[in-house]
Amino acid sequence: MRIECIAIGTELLTTRRLDTNSVWLGERLASLGLAFHRKTAVGDSHEDLAGLFREALTRSDLIITTGGLGPTFDDFTKECFAEVLGVALQEDAQSREDMLAFYAARKRVPPASNFKQALLPAGAEALRNPVGTAPGVWWQDPPAHPGARIVMLPGVPREMKRMWEEQVEPRLRALAGAPVHTLRMVVAGVPESALDERTRDVRERHGHLDWTILASLTQVELLARHADPGALEAVRIDFLPVLGDDLAATGAANLEDAVLDQLRARGETLAVAESMTGGLLAARLTAIAGASEAFLGGATAYSAMAKAALLGVPADLLAAEGTVSEATSRALAEAIRAKLGATWGLGLTGNAGPGAEGGAPVGTVFIALAGPGGIESRTYALPGDRVDVQLRATAWALDLLRRTLRNG
Ligand code: ATP
Repeated sequence: MRIECIAIGTELLTTRRLDTNSVWLGERLASLGLAFHRKTAVGDSHEDLAGLFREALTRSDLIITTGGLGPTFDDFTKECFAEVLGVALQEDAQSREDMLAFYAARKRVPPASNFKQALLPAGAEALRNPVGTAPGVWWQDPPAHPGARIVMLPGVPREMKRMWEEQVEPRLRALAGAPVHTLRMVVAGVPESALDERTRDVRERHGHLDWTILASLTQVELLARHADPGALEAVRIDFLPVLGDDLAATGAANLEDAVLDQLRARGETLAVAESMTGGLLAARLTAIAGASEAFLGGATAYSAMAKAALLGVPADLLAAEGTVSEATSRALAEAIRAKLGATWGLGLTGNAGPGAEGGAPVGTVFIALAGPGGIESRTYALPGDRVDVQLRATAWALDLLRRTLRNG
């Protein structure tokens, strides 16, 4: 099935609003074993919309639109599709009733302009909107396009999601066949190309599965999809010896979830002292609900003065070794561990750029981990711009702790 998404709204062409609807819809389709072959964002222009609808009807079996179903002058998705297909709009009695009920429940009277929302292209079916006033449209076998399906959903993400889940997905499931399951494995500390090579044999052995490798700055995800959960379990078992300690998490978890889970399971705690990451590591950890059981907190000790004042790093050490040095990362890790009485202390310092700093080239990062058995430190040369280096540094810090906990 060739599936196309059309996100409608002039604001989507600006930086004011990102088209998150199509990303969400793409994920939901993947869970049905389906995928878009094309996505477009288009402004509220009658001419552009009509042109795009004509093209989409020639190349896609299922066209999903979001936006432009509201009552205002710039909402004309249904009108435009009806015009392109040469059919009239007619009022849907249920949609009119739903709208009156929506307003009555709020002790209000619908403005006259709202009644246009109850109009549907002749031959199409309404998708009821339980959380708003604009009904959607399910249009099967529109004129001159037998076998085609057109789905029109509101732009408001909350309304779109609810209507998709309750009304569109069940209809599509009937078309898509068996549901598709996903095995997700998160790998840390290995570049995408090396992982691709290392896992090639296993992937080829399970070549009947649908495979994806997704790399981000902080981890690489391996995804396998198949209708049979047993086939995915066999893959997982085959992957264990291949990935070894590099497998950080499975399911919905990421690197930071894995670290927090390990700490919680051991009843241990973590504190962090960050220089060039400016609190990013703490932010990644605290983004996870329940982090407080294992993450105590930390310090953003950016200047040399802050390193001395907040954490008592000796001024002569900073002067002799430099703020971007292995010795400073070790002093940061030990100081924060002692100050907060944590099982583990992580200390990060480095040069995220843009210029060289005290002889350390851009991307030089020192990470130290202080724990019950002593302290260890690592030096990294990380690629990318300032934000990339900061993000990558947090991932290496988490991974250093993860591996230590795993082997300890
Ligand atoms: P309503 O009748 O409720 O106004 P609508 O179908 O007319 O819905 P729009 O007016 O196009 O939808 O958009 C409503 C809201 O949803 C706006 O805040 C808009 O920015 C947001 N929105 C629209 N399309 C998208 C999208 N593709 N991704 C994320 N947000 C979107």
